[in-house]
Amino acid sequence: MDNKAMYQLTYGLFVLSAKDGDKDNGCIINTAGQVTTTPNRITIAVNKQNCTHDMIRKTGEFNLSILDESAPFAIFERFGFQCGRDTDKLAGLEVLRADNGLFYLKGHASAFLSGKVVETMDLGTHTLFLADVTDGALLSGDNPITYAYYQKNTKPKPEKTEKKGYRCKICGYIYEGEPLPEDFICPICKHGAIDFEKII
Ligand code: FE
Repeated sequence: MDNKAMYQLTYGLFVLSAKDGDKDNGCIINTAGQVTTTPNRITIAVNKQNCTHDMIRKTGEFNLSILDESAPFAIFERFGFQCGRDTDKLAGLEVLRADNGLFYLKGHASAFLSGKVVETMDLGTHTLFLADVTDGALLSGDNPITYAYYQKNTKPKPEKTEKKGYRCKICGYIYEGEPLPEDFICPICKHGAIDFEKII
């Protein structure tokens, strides 16, 4: 099997948000899609290592901010490359609240959706949540960002380095060593070995 075939699947990028009591959290996902229109339902797959995952498991509610092409790399760093357990990911960021009380992005989002979980499936590393769409609104209405757009335009170009090893294609983290363990997980963005490339 040629893994490059998998890279031809298209994905959007989203800030997934949840709330447990007074605690807000959010993370970046690329796995959201509508599965039925009647009823209006979407699925999201969320890595179990994300704090947001545990909150959604507990509360059954989430918002999805559909990022647009204006989203700067800083948004991905803020929500994707740090852990909500020891940082406040919302610090200094202006957000809005939906009727469910959860935040969504005020800027850099083309729309937001609110989801209420109706079923979950354990996928090993991830949990798949099937949810009713209970609310939503158009925000900027601009082109939603795709994963391909992010790779080409949003992510900073990798700096030249003397280091030898493998670079995470998502966040730029460098693993110094040979070979890269097959079960390696990026300590910054939690992506697996498949998202690393050899530094040449
Ligand atoms: Fe990474």
